[in-house]
Amino acid sequence: MKITFLGTGDMFSVEQHHNSMLAEFGDTHLVIDFPESNAKALKEYGFPMTDIHNVFITHLHEDHINGVQMLGYYAQIVGDRKPQLFIHEELVDPLWNILSPGMRYTTDGERTMSDYYDIVPLPDGGTFELGGVTFETFRTQHVPGMVSNGLLAKPYFYYSADSTLDQERVQQAAADVQLIFHECHMHDLVIKSHTSLQDLQQLPAEVRQKTVLMHYHDEYADADKRAQFNREHDLRMVGTLESFELAV
Ligand SMILES: [Zn+2]
Ligand SMILES: [Zn+2]
Repeated sequence: MKITFLGTGDMFSVEQHHNSMLAEFGDTHLVIDFPESNAKALKEYGFPMTDIHNVFITHLHEDHINGVQMLGYYAQIVGDRKPQLFIHEELVDPLWNILSPGMRYTTDGERTMSDYYDIVPLPDGGTFELGGVTFETFRTQHVPGMVSNGLLAKPYFYYSADSTLDQERVQQAAADVQLIFHECHMHDLVIKSHTSLQDLQQLPAEVRQKTVLMHYHDEYADADKRAQFNREHDLRMVGTLESFELAV
């Protein structure tokens, strides 16, 4: 499985793309979240947007979904098939409420969400399979009352999505995966909906060594700063368009 980060920035990032990850395996792929910055990242990476067929939506904060309208139109106008959207069942209608002012009315009449996307609604803890890989979803501890999901793909990776640290879940998953992709705001202050570096440093050393930090602020858009961080810590930061090869 080849992992490539299409973006690693937080919501306010202007110097790097918003957080999104592409996993390529067998003859298929999965993109986690679809910010508008993915269009540029995919072009730079050399992956045509018409070839994006599978997207998992973690939650509805704008920096994770503000490219979904573009993807739907792109697939319909330039491509030849609808992308599959794997998404928690309670987020389907709220997502259409966001998209519909720009997508409901067309020159060929009214459209619904399923005219643009093949929706795969998932219950709490739901799983889906692609290319022989099972993806297990789980609720994350992001904002109280808000539906937000992470992803576990054994034996490959754990993906925290936006979340405070769920230490028990991370430690449990660590034995089953090669890498843990975890959000980390990298500020020296407490942000109640996100994870700090201090939080992650509480993890056991063997877990930290497979932990890769994403969704951070623009000070670390600088590759030299990340390289210095990576030399000084046993967890490491990933940069935009950086790839990992994960063994079967
Ligand atoms: Zn976010
Ligand atoms: Zn968020």
